Amino acid sequence: MKSRKESKIGQCRLCLEEKPLCESHTIPEFWFQALYQNRKFIQPKMDQKHGIQIYQKGIKEPMLCTECEGFLNSTYEQPIHKFWKENIKISDLNGSEKSHFVLQNLNYTKFKLYHLSILWRGHHAKNPMFEKVCLDEQHENILREMILAQNPGEETDYPIFGSVLFRKATGEVMEDLMIQPLKGTTEDGHDVYRFIYGGLNWLIAVSSNIQLEENTDSLTSEGRMILHKTYLEDDPRIAKLVKKWFKTFQTLPTSLLVEK
Ligand SMILES: [Zn+2]
Repeated sequence: MKSRKESKIGQCRLCLEEKPLCESHTIPEFWFQALYQNRKFIQPKMDQKHGIQIYQKGIKEPMLCTECEGFLNSTYEQPIHKFWKENIKISDLNGSEKSHFVLQNLNYTKFKLYHLSILWRGHHAKNPMFEKVCLDEQHENILREMILAQNPGEETDYPIFGSVLFRKATGEVMEDLMIQPLKGTTEDGHDVYRFIYGGLNWLIAVSSNIQLEENTDSLTSEGRMILHKTYLEDDPRIAKLVKKWFKTFQTLPTSLLVEK
C-alpha cells in the first residue's frame, strides 16, 4: 500500500536533479491569508469557458525537491514575510487620499528575488491559473541561476514595479483579491507580467537591461519602491469579474460588495 505522503519522483526545477518532489506553492501561502478571512477565493480563469473557480487552499503542485523548497523558504520567503508583517500595513491605506506610497528599507536582494521566484514558479506551474506565464528558455535559465546564486542583478535587470490596488467605491485596498497573472508588453517591446496579491499589482519586466528613468518607481538597489494608486474599477477585466462573480454566487467577497 502506498503511503499517503509518498512523493512523486521528478526533475526539481531549481537544482535540476531527479528527486522526490514536494508540493510547492507558486504564490506563497502567506498571500492567501487575506482571502481565507473572507470567502476563500481566487479567480483563476477569466475566459467565458472556465469562468470562476473557488479554491479552499493555496495552489500547490510538485515542482521542487525538499532541499530547494527549504532553500526558497528560508532564503526568501521567511524574511520577506516577516518584514512585510512587521512593517507594511496595507490595510492602513484604506481611505487614503495620497496618490502614491513609498516602500523603503527593502532588502534589495531578497525582495527582488522573492518576487522573481514567484514569476519563475509561475512559469513552471501546470495549474491553469498560471497558463499566461511563459518565459522563454533563456530568461527561465537566467532567473533560475539568479535565484540559486542569490544574485539580484542590476536595477535594470528584470525590474519590479508595483501599485496599490484600491476599490474606488469604498476606498478599500483589495487585499482579498487574487487573479490569474497576465502577460503584457512594455512600450519598448519587452514582456511584462502582472500578478495581484497582497493588495498590490506587481509588474515584472522580463529583460536584462531595461531602460529605466533616472528616478525610477521600480525597486532600487537602495531598497525603495514607489507604488502608485490604481483602481479596481479602472480595470475592465476586473469589472467583468465582479459582474460574473455576482451572477454565479449571488454574494461577493467582502471587498467587492456592492452597496445596497
Ligand atoms: Zn532541487
